[in-house]
Amino acid sequence: MAAASGKTFEVFNPADSSVIAQAPDSDREDINRAVAAARRAFESGPWRRMTPSERGKLVWRIGDLILKHADELAELESVDNGKPRAVARVADVPLAADLFHYMAGWATKIEGNTIPISVPGFHAFTLREPVGVVGQIIPWNFPLLMAAWKLGPALATGNCVVLKPAEQTPLSALRLGELLLEAGVPEGVVNILTGFGETAGAALAAHDDVDKIAFTGSTEVGKIIVRAASGNLKKVSLELGGKSPNIIFKDAGDLEAAISGAANAIFFNHGQCCCAGSRLMVERDIFDDVVAGVAEHARKIKLGPGLAADTQMGPLVSEEQLKRVTGYMHQGKQAGACYVTGGERSGDRGYFVKPTVIKDVNPKMSIVREEIFGPVVVAEPFTKPEELIPRANQTPYGLAAGVWTRDIGKAHCIAAELRAGTVWINCYNIFDAALPFGGYKQSGWGREMGHAVLEAAKRCGPCSGRRVTSPS
Ligand code: NDP
Repeated sequence: MAAASGKTFEVFNPADSSVIAQAPDSDREDINRAVAAARRAFESGPWRRMTPSERGKLVWRIGDLILKHADELAELESVDNGKPRAVARVADVPLAADLFHYMAGWATKIEGNTIPISVPGFHAFTLREPVGVVGQIIPWNFPLLMAAWKLGPALATGNCVVLKPAEQTPLSALRLGELLLEAGVPEGVVNILTGFGETAGAALAAHDDVDKIAFTGSTEVGKIIVRAASGNLKKVSLELGGKSPNIIFKDAGDLEAAISGAANAIFFNHGQCCCAGSRLMVERDIFDDVVAGVAEHARKIKLGPGLAADTQMGPLVSEEQLKRVTGYMHQGKQAGACYVTGGERSGDRGYFVKPTVIKDVNPKMSIVREEIFGPVVVAEPFTKPEELIPRANQTPYGLAAGVWTRDIGKAHCIAAELRAGTVWINCYNIFDAALPFGGYKQSGWGREMGHAVLEAAKRCGPCSGRRVTSPS
């Protein structure tokens, strides 16, 4: 549907900067209309009368439809975001379907409690109810999957939604909207609006008739969202940035597996992952071997347009990200870091950068402290765990970490010391719809996926649930 103003914006293919679509440029007026539609659907539409079982079946159908259209969705994701089509086909699309299938099961299992109170003659119980109208703002790194992470739990628990995808990657969310209608989601229950963060996103975050805002993106914008949400004290959940340590001990055993795991930790999705293993910390005795091995992996990665069959890494998502990532590369060089491989743009068409491995860094450098969000890893040696842990935790973020060692006791001890929402042991980037995901510190509030996300999507518990009493 067109924006009220009739304005549109251009959507680019990051592989060659060509314009592939025009999307409606929604603003405050469109957000007002969408929130009103969601409110109507929540208060009086058929959605409210749908039984948990019907809702569960409907959410399951969404997962089925995503799988039915998997090739088409993977292609859309590839031309819009730049990621290889083959990767989108085996990762983004099936994971999105899994999320809906997993959440479908929860629709019939949301239960309250009976509470044995000590006031004679009364009984009490809690109900868990939908929050109401939920605003969802998502980023461009996994456009379809992030839409699924947000929509799956909100729909399974009976909420109505206004969703704004990132301006760089609106296409798969729009197609998903069509699939939702095909699955039987009543009109008004999910409203998908394309537009810019500063206009449409800001209006949604501040809207007085939105009960909750769920945001994934940068920590900087996360803080803006919190301030905007304070007007009506709407609930807020945030999945934000990271600068995650990936730690390899000399007793990692299969060093080749650890090296290729470290390469995957940073280079998967071109490093455009909030949980990317962007700080590689390696025990000094094996530091040179590991750095050489990861650099070797980096050099072998085949760059190319996402639709080419042999592409292993596509372009960054946008010219803005290209400037941001190459800007960090430049800062690292100025600060005296050593570039083992990469460190520059690749070619002059599209937004490609070379996978990059950097050593000889120190904690003052911006490349060590800040989220680069590109295929750039900084490697540092360590000698003793006493020195390792404070350094690993020396970041305002706390999203994820990796530990590679065959000593399972050590693995658990180190994991317990790391301030990170997820710690992978002898692996990295393993996701499952049943596993909660989210951050400590400035990496966010609340959890995505698993049953943990339902705490955010539902009113619950004695504080915000409803206590009903009646004379017995
Ligand atoms: P943003 O945080 O700006 O974008 C995420 C989403 O927020 C987009 O939908 C964006 O809209 C929207 N948005 C932007 N400003 C506002 C606002 N004032 N009010 C409401 N919504 C808003 O990320 P960027 O795309 O600018 O990327 C910059 C950096 O953020 C990256 O380099 C990376 O470090 C980090 N990032 C982290 C992600 C994560 O998963 N944790 C994901 C993406 C980025 P629109 O894009 O349409 O303007």
